[in-house]
Amino acid sequence: MLSVEQLYVNYGEKEILHDVDLQVAQEEIVMIVGESGSGKSTLVRSIMGLLGEEGHITKGNIVFQGVNLCQLNKKQYRELRGSRIAMVFQQPESSFDPTQTIHRQFYEAMNVHRKVNVQEAEQTAKSLLGMLGFREPETILSKYPFELSGVMNQRVAIALAMILNPQLLLADEPTSALDVPVQGQCVKEMMDLRQHLGTTIIIVTHNMGVVSHMADKVAVMYAGKIVERGDVREIFYQSTHPYTRALLDSVPKIHSTNKETLYSLKGTPPDLINPPVGCSFAPRCEYGMNICRKKYPELTKFSDTQECNCWLHDPRADVSNLPENMIRRRQ
Ligand code: SF4
Repeated sequence: MLSVEQLYVNYGEKEILHDVDLQVAQEEIVMIVGESGSGKSTLVRSIMGLLGEEGHITKGNIVFQGVNLCQLNKKQYRELRGSRIAMVFQQPESSFDPTQTIHRQFYEAMNVHRKVNVQEAEQTAKSLLGMLGFREPETILSKYPFELSGVMNQRVAIALAMILNPQLLLADEPTSALDVPVQGQCVKEMMDLRQHLGTTIIIVTHNMGVVSHMADKVAVMYAGKIVERGDVREIFYQSTHPYTRALLDSVPKIHSTNKETLYSLKGTPPDLINPPVGCSFAPRCEYGMNICRKKYPELTKFSDTQECNCWLHDPRADVSNLPENMIRRRQ
């Protein structure tokens, strides 16, 4: 359905995305994880054509259902946005006009792309809100955004994004503004949408709990590059990149009985104006070797779905002093 090919994106002098490839099949849920500043949001905004004045694609292609989005003009992009590709933002309020009722917002969102009457918009909105767990959709439709709680607004924002039944839904940190107890509810409702409507979903998140519950595939980003990708089981049980392992180690274990301090990854992501030579993760990596600081690692493929860029798995690197459990060879 979607193929991002060797994508490079700059904001001014900063190269925010570097040689990013991502393939997404129909009805898949793909999660993009990584720290703040790793380029996750820029990747989904590139797909959505929302890089703003400063950002621009310098190289590469984004092919959606056979159409190269990089070649669309503004009008063509506007026609696609909302109808075939939709986006849910981190702050649900940014999806709404605060001066209009929810009912009016659904009506206008539909009317941009095809002429509908008020009743038709209301019926569609009610059915979507029902699908997202609202018991009294008509009450919600009569409210203004400020009259709803954060989680209610986020669920309404998801329904609003789905109003024209887009084939691809992009969500940028959809649960991060929500309290922990209601994050699971939001996740479940997005999964139900996929089941009922067959929507393909790409979600940016730093919440590994959300990833484990929802994802089919996971792409791990660091300093503007995808450093590891795989299906959800491969990433959680057989991750191969030290950065992926660091992300997983820093998740609190609910059943842990010992009182050890929670692992925290030292250092900060690199400056993207002057990125380090070689592997960008080298200044923070406890397994870094000389070669890591000289040359960016090539891709090692472990299965049809899992691959990573790390010298640990390259037979040319000297790994004799490193722990055996970190090293997995090409099969
Ligand atoms: Fe660490 Fe080297 Fe692998 Fe980079 S290439 S993650 S520095 S071991």
